[in-house]
Amino acid sequence: MTAITRTFAGFLSLLFVFVALSLAGSWHLRHHLSPEAAVAAPACGAQMPGGDLEQRQARISEVRELRFWTTAAQVASLLLCAMVCGIGLYLRYRAAHEARGKEEAERELDRERRALERRVEERTRELRQEVEDRRRAEELNRGQKQVLEMLAAPGQQTTEDILLHLVETVAAQRRSWECSLHLVDLGGKTLQLMASSEVSERLKRYLGSIGTDFPDAPEGRACLSGQTCIVPAMTEVRRPWSELLVANGIFTAWSVPFRTHVSDHVTGTLTVYSRLLGTPSDRDLELVETAAKMAALVIEHRRIHAELVHNAYQDVLTGLPNRRAGEESIQAAISHAALCSETVAVLWIDLNRFKRINDQYGHSAGDHVLRTVANRLRRSPLISGGSARMGGDEFLVLLSGKEAPARAGDISRELGAAIAEPINLGTSTVCVTASIGICSYPHDGTAIDILERNADFAMYRAKSDGAGSCIYSPAMSEEVNEALELEQALVIALEQDQFRLAYQPLYGQDGELFGFEALLRFQHPTLGNISPARFVPVAEETRLILPIGTWVLREACRQLKEWHDAGLPHVRMGVNISALQFVRDDFAETVAEVLATFGLSPEDLTLELTESVVMEDYASVVRQMNLLKECGVRISMDDFGTGYSSLSYIHKLPIDTVKIDRSFIERLAEPDGTRPIVEAVIAMARHLGLSTVAEGVETAEQQHILRQAGCHGLQGFLFARPLPPEEAKRCLMASTTTAFANPQLRPVTKGIAVA
Ligand code: C2E
Ligand code: MG
Ligand code: MG
Repeated sequence: MTAITRTFAGFLSLLFVFVALSLAGSWHLRHHLSPEAAVAAPACGAQMPGGDLEQRQARISEVRELRFWTTAAQVASLLLCAMVCGIGLYLRYRAAHEARGKEEAERELDRERRALERRVEERTRELRQEVEDRRRAEELNRGQKQVLEMLAAPGQQTTEDILLHLVETVAAQRRSWECSLHLVDLGGKTLQLMASSEVSERLKRYLGSIGTDFPDAPEGRACLSGQTCIVPAMTEVRRPWSELLVANGIFTAWSVPFRTHVSDHVTGTLTVYSRLLGTPSDRDLELVETAAKMAALVIEHRRIHAELVHNAYQDVLTGLPNRRAGEESIQAAISHAALCSETVAVLWIDLNRFKRINDQYGHSAGDHVLRTVANRLRRSPLISGGSARMGGDEFLVLLSGKEAPARAGDISRELGAAIAEPINLGTSTVCVTASIGICSYPHDGTAIDILERNADFAMYRAKSDGAGSCIYSPAMSEEVNEALELEQALVIALEQDQFRLAYQPLYGQDGELFGFEALLRFQHPTLGNISPARFVPVAEETRLILPIGTWVLREACRQLKEWHDAGLPHVRMGVNISALQFVRDDFAETVAEVLATFGLSPEDLTLELTESVVMEDYASVVRQMNLLKECGVRISMDDFGTGYSSLSYIHKLPIDTVKIDRSFIERLAEPDGTRPIVEAVIAMARHLGLSTVAEGVETAEQQHILRQAGCHGLQGFLFARPLPPEEAKRCLMASTTTAFANPQLRPVTKGIAVA
């Protein structure tokens, strides 16, 4: 009870006493002070004399007034009492009401407090969960980042290492989790365990035999359906695999399949095994799906990387190691040889006239030839250190061991013979020969580039000599240095107009001079006279032959025009043309332009092409020949007989003359010499409607045989050497009177030469 209530109760008690006293007083007054009594019994001491009415009436009214006021006081008291009671009751009611309200408020407050506590608890739980999720997400992110870093550093981590890291990252997400990753094997039939978190040996056995023993396990089903397979209560699945899992404390499992971008089929599965019962949450599923995508990325990246590495080291066409791999093999072989004090032989193989096969039979035939040669090298038991395709038609062979350099010559011959075996191209069969250059480590060099270069020099020598193989010697390097020197000298010669032409006369059977061959001469200021046989190949290699050749053509035409203008007998001018010049698209145009410049007729010019020119690029050479023939220019096949397939194309080419090579004329008069060949060539040319010229005629005997065989033209030291312009002019002037310029010839050629 409050203080107010207590004060009010005291006050109310006093009021009741007061009211009771006033009631008692009034009751007393009512009974003792009635008007009758007042009239009957006057007040003591004031005995009324017998019936004083006025006094009595006054007394009665006095009593009545008193009674009235007494009653009024009673009523007032009662009213006051009632009012006080009312107020009391009201106050009491209010106090009770307030107490009730307070209780209610307290209860409400309590409820709110409890709700708040619940909310705080919930929020705390949520926050904890969020923190946990964030931690896991960070862990997963870290794991993914590490996986990507491992991927980005190829060569340091194997694919298995990366996948193991991934499954361990997944397993670390929940204490109750284990994880495994299976890949579909190449046949697409079984699953191979690639990685698993640290599981018991028994579980490992299960994981290892899923592919073969438990095809209906979650992994297999996920793989077959391509959908995530969830087993929420392992105990309810009565299968051998589920029993095995339960025995290992696993009650839930779900397997997520993944596929790489390049494959339509499932590549593998990522499976989580949980020690808790129940369906995995969306978050858990999402997590494992993300990890599965990472696994697909790892596998795809590694496959692409492996393919790139394979392509980077393997020649796609032949399947042999490529240049890069070849050079690494040389490095490995010489490192090993250095350790074991051994030697390595480097064989540089180049196919001869390979371009001709491409031109004549097409590029797929060329590819077939390269593949066949590569297979022959691959299968050869002679190759001890490996082989590689170094590009184009070049191959490398390594021979290792102490005996390697000593046996390299024999082995290269055997390899050359194996390469030269016929190759079937479907409609035809070809034989490809090879030129092989040999050098050895450490004798000829200790660095890859030096060994490659020296083997290359030796190969070029083998090619130019027509020998199948050649062993490197330091002189070859000197030759190359000389060639470099020569190259510079040629550039200067061109700039400073140091080239000259010599003219060697060509005679008919009856001794009439019918033409000259223009032959290039280079008189070097310090090196002296350099033979065209030496500088022309260098000029060709450096392509300097293009401007040099144009200069020769102009100068020869200019000279001929000068002789024509001087009224000298009309003769033809033969100009040697290099393959590089001839295959240029604008060559025929250049010839026409030069002829026009000097006002010469096309018949005045004979272009001398070697067989090698024809072999260089058959199709474009024939096209060019036809263009020139249309102009009226004559074409002569120079050095005939030294080429490879002369007879197979000679009748198809629009040529006018065959110049029989000097090497045939040289041995023409010898017993068992070349006479039958030369006679056959002349007869063949006659049948084809071609004229023949023999070059390098040095003896009257040779002249005699050639005349008998019906050779149309003769060129050689017997008649005249290549002459400087002035001497050639004199020769031309003399030709009007003398058939053969060489006076020594006359006694020998009596009866043949026109005297
Ligand atoms: P080729 O076109 O076959 O020229 C004939 C070569 O035989 C000339 O050598 C000539 O001097 C030589 N010769 C002629 N008669 C005899 C003989 O009776 N005995 C001997 N031993 N040799 C004889 P040269 O001038 O040294 O030219 C060599 C080659 O250089 C030429 O062979 C030709 O292929 C090339 N050549 C010369 N000048 C030019 C040119 O202006 N352009 C091009 N592309 N090549 C040229
Ligand atoms: Mg010639
Ligand atoms: Mg010749």
